[in-house]
Amino acid sequence: MYFSHERPRPHQKELIDDVYAAVSERKHLLAHAPTGIGKTAAVLSPAISYALENNKSVFFLTPKISQHQIAVDEVSRLAKLNGLEFTAADIVGRKYSCVDPVLDAADQPSFYEICRRRRKSESCQYYNNARGNSKRQKDAAALAFQKLMEGYGTVMGNSELKGECAGFRYAGRPMPLCAYEISLKIAKQSPVVIADYFHVLHPPIAEHFLKGIGKKLEDSIIIIDEAQNASDRIRSVLSHSLTPFMLTRAIKEAELLKSPLAKELSRLKRDVGRLAEQEPRIIKLNDIPVWGDGALGDLKALGEEYLEATNRMRSACISVYSFLSNWAVGSQEYLRMSNSHGVHHSCLDASISTAGIIASAHSVIAMSGTLLPLEMYRDLLGFEPGRTLMRQYPSPFPRENRVNVVSDTVTTRFAKRSNEQFARIASEVAKVADTVPGNVAVFFPSYRVMREVLASFSPNKPVYSQKERSTPEESAQLLSHFRSNKHFGAVLCAVAGGSFAEGIDYPGRDLLAAIIVGVPLAEWNLETKALVDYYEYKFGEGWNYGYLYPAMNRAIQAAGRVIRSDSDRGAVVLLDERFKWANYAKCFPKDMELLLTRDPAFVVSEFFRQPAK
Ligand code: SF4
Repeated sequence: MYFSHERPRPHQKELIDDVYAAVSERKHLLAHAPTGIGKTAAVLSPAISYALENNKSVFFLTPKISQHQIAVDEVSRLAKLNGLEFTAADIVGRKYSCVDPVLDAADQPSFYEICRRRRKSESCQYYNNARGNSKRQKDAAALAFQKLMEGYGTVMGNSELKGECAGFRYAGRPMPLCAYEISLKIAKQSPVVIADYFHVLHPPIAEHFLKGIGKKLEDSIIIIDEAQNASDRIRSVLSHSLTPFMLTRAIKEAELLKSPLAKELSRLKRDVGRLAEQEPRIIKLNDIPVWGDGALGDLKALGEEYLEATNRMRSACISVYSFLSNWAVGSQEYLRMSNSHGVHHSCLDASISTAGIIASAHSVIAMSGTLLPLEMYRDLLGFEPGRTLMRQYPSPFPRENRVNVVSDTVTTRFAKRSNEQFARIASEVAKVADTVPGNVAVFFPSYRVMREVLASFSPNKPVYSQKERSTPEESAQLLSHFRSNKHFGAVLCAVAGGSFAEGIDYPGRDLLAAIIVGVPLAEWNLETKALVDYYEYKFGEGWNYGYLYPAMNRAIQAAGRVIRSDSDRGAVVLLDERFKWANYAKCFPKDMELLLTRDPAFVVSEFFRQPAK
């Protein structure tokens, strides 16, 4: 088997063997593989080895574009170290690979409409250069592709490829190419494709995409990275909202073009507005007008006409069309509800999209550093139990480098919330934070609880707190101030499940301890209740799958920020009596080794008093 490093790390070998066993027996694997195992290499190496031997294709799917690069690096290293000559494609959606800067301002639905129209009317020069319409253009595109591939190597990251395509020259003349079309051409000749979830896990897109690159599901090994997010991400792709604001803009567009649809849209706005003024509630299909195919077609055409006539990059008519054309879809797998924001059509079941794809694929490997309980992810994504292996691997980091503590002296349980309780939490957190010789992060279940606790929180360290509506620049600045205090120590207050608690690294002294305040349960609203009811009906696990386990995963993700390498040392303090309750405690990884104490500050100070081994 080919491998992308000199030798496997502790526990990495077990994962490699399990992946190879799964792909060679046409089975699936769900892998809880903690940080540090080297899971990307452990999964890609056996999957690619098998694919090269057996003429299969490997799809490495991630929820975010930023997570592609690690796979690009591993594939490149694997080929180099083993002298392999194959290519891989790194694909992102058309919107993100479009080389036409004019379209940067277009919103998602409008972009796809503009792009489709330009391709159809043969007016996108980048498309014509990359793909071609006439025979002459097609020949020129083939030659350009050949030239581009001469300098391609094994794989090029999507942003690098976009740069190459935008600046491409042929025979001394600029010949900019559509990077998306080029990446499809590369995928067609490659056994490895790095892409986003929706390329392969969303059937209408997958069918088109796979056909376009000449691949079949039954010959595909699909790797789902960060699989703890897959169900929620897919549900959100399948969910749509309609707001009075969108309708106001759509009516203006219709009036500008003197369309009779302005009246229909006004009627729709009146109904949506009326629902938005009422208490949040579950609504029926007919609580808003259901548009027939003819009217929907007219609305789409109106949006296209608006884009063309005004040269704008966004059309609200197209967004409204996108909502209305999905409104009648589905039955009990969807929740139709209204609240003060408008009307929502929310998908409750990701498996309506994924189960068929998983069943047809050669093998699917779903992996994450936090994938417990494995049965829940198997059920939510629709893996067939008889064809699915489930494995949990221990953390490879030295046990003596960490201490994990549960304290039952406080709680954020709704029934026990009071000013005294919040003051007690503030005092407990401050005591722990002050004993840590460096940076500490405190993760709260919500902004509301964070505000209540911060009202009486006064540690002997500067405090940085996450703002509910901050821009990415403001968040980056806050984080940079926090990190710059690592030698003296500071406290970062943030919400569990937020951008400071997941998908972010705090290496070395950037973070010495994390305090998890309360169980980060989702807000108990109509959607959460509908999820609980639906999972109860489907799996008999409503409370756990819809409410408790996702909250525990948010807590474990936040706790996992502390130790990111085998030289990191740190403490995790879980502050809530519920963390010791059996149905909550069973969610922690087996090797987390929790210590129950009523004096977490003492345990943490003793831990940091010991010299590092
Ligand atoms: S065809 Fe390519 S370059 Fe042209 S608009 Fe679409 S994504 Fe952009």
